Amino acid sequence: MFVALGSNLGDRETSLAAAIAALRRTRRVRVLAVSPVYETDPVGPPPQGPYLNAVVRLRTSLPPRALLERLQAIETAAGRTRGGERNAARTLDLDILFYGDAKIHEPGLAVPHPRLHERAFVLEPLCDLAPDRVHPTLHARVDVLARRVRNPAAVRRRDP
Ligand code: ATP
Ligand code: CA
Ligand code: CA
Repeated sequence: MFVALGSNLGDRETSLAAAIAALRRTRRVRVLAVSPVYETDPVGPPPQGPYLNAVVRLRTSLPPRALLERLQAIETAAGRTRGGERNAARTLDLDILFYGDAKIHEPGLAVPHPRLHERAFVLEPLCDLAPDRVHPTLHARVDVLARRVRNPAAVRRRDP
């Protein structure tokens, strides 16, 4: 399983670290790896500041819906407010990218994440963790997808 993390409001480093700590405390979830952090230009209505983005790899026995609910609770605990504009600034955003090779199309849950292949800010950290992973519906490797959208000016790796 892979989860994307993003923050562009408030203390971004602390929000990401708090999210990872909360995942580590979550029953039936084991965090296996954390990617480097990238600073990325925001996509969405201005004015808003740059994001910090990362990806975590985890193992879980939680079903997808329960994992999503847990991620949303972690977002709320980080001060995320909902109901604003799409792509508005947020303290914390947690998205399920892949859940094994599952293909899920339900109200409120789509996996693989339907826009991940368009997003360098997701694919760069994902590529750091799992370059040879094959996207279950596009049938392309993550490193190939990342190369297609690569944009080092907009997605900048922070020094570890
Ligand atoms: P995007 O999905 O384009 O990255 P976003 O992250 O800004 O946009 P949110 O406002 O955080 O969108 O979430 C909107 C809804 O997306 C959530 O309430 C959730 O039910 C739904 N959703 C669907 N698929 C997923 C997924 N794979 N991971 C997280 N949320 C998802
Ligand atoms: Ca998102
Ligand atoms: Ca989201």
